[in-house]
Amino acid sequence: MDNYKTIKALGQGTWGVVYMAEQKDTGLIVAIKKIKAKKQEEGVDFTAVREIKLLRDFRHENIIRLVDVFATPDMAVALVYECAHTDLEKILKNLSIPLSMADIKQHIRTLLVAVAACHERWILHRDLKPDNMLFLKDGTMKLADFGLARLYGTPKTHLSPQAITLWYKPPELLMGAYEYSSAADMWSVGCIFAELLLRRPFLPGQNSDIAQLDKIFTVFGTPNETNWPDYNTLPLPCRGLTWDSVPAIPFDEIFTAAPKDAISLLRSIMVLDPNNRFSASQALSHPYFTIDPPPTPKENLILSS
Ligand code: AMP
Repeated sequence: MDNYKTIKALGQGTWGVVYMAEQKDTGLIVAIKKIKAKKQEEGVDFTAVREIKLLRDFRHENIIRLVDVFATPDMAVALVYECAHTDLEKILKNLSIPLSMADIKQHIRTLLVAVAACHERWILHRDLKPDNMLFLKDGTMKLADFGLARLYGTPKTHLSPQAITLWYKPPELLMGAYEYSSAADMWSVGCIFAELLLRRPFLPGQNSDIAQLDKIFTVFGTPNETNWPDYNTLPLPCRGLTWDSVPAIPFDEIFTAAPKDAISLLRSIMVLDPNNRFSASQALSHPYFTIDPPPTPKENLILSS
């Protein structure tokens, strides 16, 4: 900590308070996140160190930069990131910040660029949501918090329930699939896209995986042999859980103000069967990104009121 001067607390996160600080030798303003070992005697998690190294070498315009890592005397790991000005959740919640169709296109484009960069490196984010899309003062979007869940094992078993928001979880995970694939991240991308179009969370389920699945099936219809041929091999249906059959609601009845090309892209991303979901690079090739309006240049985005 000797090289840093704490300025103020930035917010409460999954792992504790995040502080804004100044790097004394460079004057760089950073955000410091301390990750404590769960049990004192276990020390610093070794996987954590490997993961951190991976993040440390990951240089990309739309990925938050890990500036430094150090161990603290109380056996915590401190992660030092470049400091952001705001995040997409704050923008979405502040209704006095305008959000045009061109702004939405820019937000979803940069998210897809960041996610494609992760997937190219075989990195799964696993926790994509608006509060993990940070913005620097110049409007650059920086995807944050990726891979962190892996430091302590899977999010399901080790993260505190309050910290995990269900709303961006794909149906295969809610049904107990053991493994994440890049398609799982893409479901979350779809939820964020939908939230940008609606300016409210798209699938806000109530507190449990089952309630979240109910929410999803109300919109997408219940899974069946046609829309998701092997869904019944997943743990939940295998244990005999069934749903009353309901049909899907057409997207244009939900996204009444959205242009057709946006709805078409959203439909290609938000597919129940993970095998049929668009990948990030497929999504970036969709005509939505070439049809007018062009995405708002980052320097023209309005980030605060
Ligand atoms: P997290 O642990 O990532 O959920 O972070 C908790 C809070 O700290 C967030 O809601 C942000 O307000 C803030 N925060 C996290 N990382 C940064 C960062 N790199 N720059 C600025 N604020 C951050």
